[in-house]
Amino acid sequence: MDTQTAIIERRAPADAMTMIKAITPTSGDVSIGRRRLHRKSLGIAVLVGASYTTLVFGPQLIASRIVSALVLVVALTATATSVFHDANHASFSANRTVNRVAGYTGDLLGGSSWIWRFKHNHLHHGNTNVSGIDADIDQAPFARLSPSQQWRPWHRYQHIYMWVLYGFLTLQWLLISDFVELRNAGIGEHPFPRRPRRRDVAALFAGKILHVSWALAIPFIFHRWWIVLSCYLAISWAVGLLLATMFQLAHCTDIADFPHDSEPRRGSDFVWHQLRTTVDVRTRTVTGRKALHWLMGGLDHQIEHHLAPGLPHTVYPLVAEQLSRYCAEHDIEIHHHPTPARAICSHARWLKTMGTKPQT
Ligand SMILES: [Zn+2]
Repeated sequence: MDTQTAIIERRAPADAMTMIKAITPTSGDVSIGRRRLHRKSLGIAVLVGASYTTLVFGPQLIASRIVSALVLVVALTATATSVFHDANHASFSANRTVNRVAGYTGDLLGGSSWIWRFKHNHLHHGNTNVSGIDADIDQAPFARLSPSQQWRPWHRYQHIYMWVLYGFLTLQWLLISDFVELRNAGIGEHPFPRRPRRRDVAALFAGKILHVSWALAIPFIFHRWWIVLSCYLAISWAVGLLLATMFQLAHCTDIADFPHDSEPRRGSDFVWHQLRTTVDVRTRTVTGRKALHWLMGGLDHQIEHHLAPGLPHTVYPLVAEQLSRYCAEHDIEIHHHPTPARAICSHARWLKTMGTKPQT
């Protein structure tokens, strides 16, 4: 870590632009990547539709319900990582309207895409791992994720209970955080760049109503209420756990840095900031890599994503090859977890470290 930080700090600003140029794919590669992403999105939509239809309208066999629910969890997670995430970075399509429509999948999952764009694109991407600005590492009072955050006695056990709380990510988007942030016209101390227009608020509420309609109201017509509610909570919890864990593996680990908010992180420093604070997740087999990339969308290639968030995630394997070559030639270390299991262990260790009472 110290060596990497020292190497990063020695770099001249011009190096950052050279690196970005070296890793940027051609427009032809981006077009191929977008077409691949659109085919993938179609496949995900079919999976969501088929598993939901089987679960709600299909045979009442336990085995069928369990399989459909598991497929639905995977398909909804992939919708968030591969369609919603790309579209809200305007990388799903070259067309702004298509990005907005695809980005609205997040609203169908229960969270406002309008608020998420500000929280994720501006606060998180612009200030990765900077306490007080990056909303992704602000889990107070439940967890302490950065050394500059206040320690509380219950944080001693955060490496145990946070795995349970992660599962409620989607439910709290649906019921709490969007409404609190809308009322406050901002996130924490950071006001929205503009006041939400009437149509933004209407889209937020329409998304919540649509989510409750497909996920609860329609199933209530065909099944007993407690079965629907149990099924909904189980699926929502599993999707929340997968999403929260995937995001945490990229930044909240013991091989990532947590820069102080006074450190420069804009302009040319921005690239080095991202290299310090972001970590990729890899696998050892080709099949494992393809499966992981399919489920995580751009989240397995988080470094590439943070350096070039405007690219469709389907070109990140190509960007990763170019980045690896560039970094090898220029003696720059890029942080990665060799396997998903090692990534999870790294996050668990970080939770335990941050949960230990600070000495001073
Ligand atoms: Zn992103």
